[in-house]
Amino acid sequence: MLSEAEVSDHKVSKKTQHTHKVKENLQKKRSSGDPIKNFTQKFFDPYAPSLESLKDFPIQKNYSLFINGEFKPAVEKKTFTSINPADETIVSTFSYAGKKDVDLAVNSAQKAFEGTWSKISGAERGKYLFRIARIIQERSKELALLESFDGGKPIKEARDVDIPLCAAHFFYYAGWADKLQYLYPGKAAKPLGVCAQIIPWNFPLLMAAWKLAPALAAGNTCVLKPAETTPLTSLILAEICQEAGLPAGVVNIITGDGVTGAHLVNHPKVRKVAFTGSTEVGKLISQSLSKTKKSLTLELGGKSANIVFSDAALDQALEGVVQGIYFNQGQVCCAGSRLLLEEPIAKDFIEKLKLRMQSLKVGLPLDKNTDIGAINSSNQLHKIQHLVDIGKKDGHPYYETDNALPEKGYFHPPCFFTGTSAVNFLDQVEIFGPVLSISTFRTPQEAIKKANNTPYGLAAGIWSEKGSKVHQVASALKAGVVWANSYNKFDPCSPFGGVKESGIGREGGLQGLLPYLELNS
Ligand code: ADP
Repeated sequence: MLSEAEVSDHKVSKKTQHTHKVKENLQKKRSSGDPIKNFTQKFFDPYAPSLESLKDFPIQKNYSLFINGEFKPAVEKKTFTSINPADETIVSTFSYAGKKDVDLAVNSAQKAFEGTWSKISGAERGKYLFRIARIIQERSKELALLESFDGGKPIKEARDVDIPLCAAHFFYYAGWADKLQYLYPGKAAKPLGVCAQIIPWNFPLLMAAWKLAPALAAGNTCVLKPAETTPLTSLILAEICQEAGLPAGVVNIITGDGVTGAHLVNHPKVRKVAFTGSTEVGKLISQSLSKTKKSLTLELGGKSANIVFSDAALDQALEGVVQGIYFNQGQVCCAGSRLLLEEPIAKDFIEKLKLRMQSLKVGLPLDKNTDIGAINSSNQLHKIQHLVDIGKKDGHPYYETDNALPEKGYFHPPCFFTGTSAVNFLDQVEIFGPVLSISTFRTPQEAIKKANNTPYGLAAGIWSEKGSKVHQVASALKAGVVWANSYNKFDPCSPFGGVKESGIGREGGLQGLLPYLELNS
């Protein structure tokens, strides 16, 4: 372990250097010719940095796999590192799970399923889940800091969204554990067995909760694999499982990359696979499971439309649009990455959007003032930059804020393209970054047609004061989730998932429990 002093000295001095760089950059850019930019910069200069510190939560030098209730290194002793995307330093070293480790983890889950977890009552299972939920709340500050540090998201989002929702999922599904026999009269609800759960890097802990909580409540045991760039908080969740006294083998957490993930989903003892990630990998998994009896849920990509009618409360809509695309740096599968504006309001709305965007502070994730943190990895940043470059070369009008970016780390300013259309990649390809494409429409029918014109169907937003219009448009949209006069609202009771290339199955609510159960008459 690094000593407390080492961790805090190292991190604090890095942060101080960064803060100076940010200020210097800001000074350089101050005299821009754009009146909107000059106006807003006057207001945002005075915010002094307010950096959270990790000194109370030292990060270990090495992390092991969590198998059968114990932390142990990988059989072949291979390791990999995770990088802090805000300053490009190493966060820690993690064990890399190979085929033998996957086998150990699945066997331990199988043993726990047969030996304990499927045997104890639902009420007993519920007690463990309630305990995990409470410990997540107790350790919420630590979890939020580590989530932000390892993945680059603003601390205020980790603190106010990821961690509370993570606890809420465990609380919610804890409540279901003893009610399964009442789900459908005359039908016995039975668990499936070992579940392989693969999660992405954009909401590491929250996605772990989405996967583990319903599976465990239903009586299954799990092997969870976090993404290779954000393995840290899953292993803290493993500690929490230990602290809650969860029987050994009920939850196993193995770290590694796509190869580890492929071994896991293809393991013969796995009964169910739940995957959240790219459509590309989702298709691969779907193909590899097609000749098996394993059940599968997939939560994949999106290119969701946020539709603003001229009769909407426009200031609210503006906030919804900003939240929809710039939350978590736009690295959100349901991000409202296409803005459809009714023609008469388009010009004014875009001016207001520019003004609002200038007030978004791009900065260090651990700074409480930061609105837009770091892009999760250099790979992802390059992908975003590459797609933005193509959009610019194609001649689409482009706007980005010119507030200073920290010099080190993987940062991208919030930005948008205007005048895009369905034939253009900007309206078709999931960029997974703070990049919005804006187009206009004249009638609700045109808005619906445009909104549906992508291979994806994850989410959509509608902004209008007219209830009947909202209902009419919502029912014509091909999207798993439609928000009305809001965006990115999540609740564990509410099912979430996509249609078309955005996936199959639902997570959240009763619908999220069913894929983990067999219903027999
Ligand atoms: P992204 O491209 O956004 O990184 P991916 O879909 O590649 O998203 O990754 C999401 C998760 O899927 C990660 O945990 C990753 O390690 C895992 N993964 C990648 N390839 C495979 C695969 N072939 N089989 C199983 N899991 C995989």
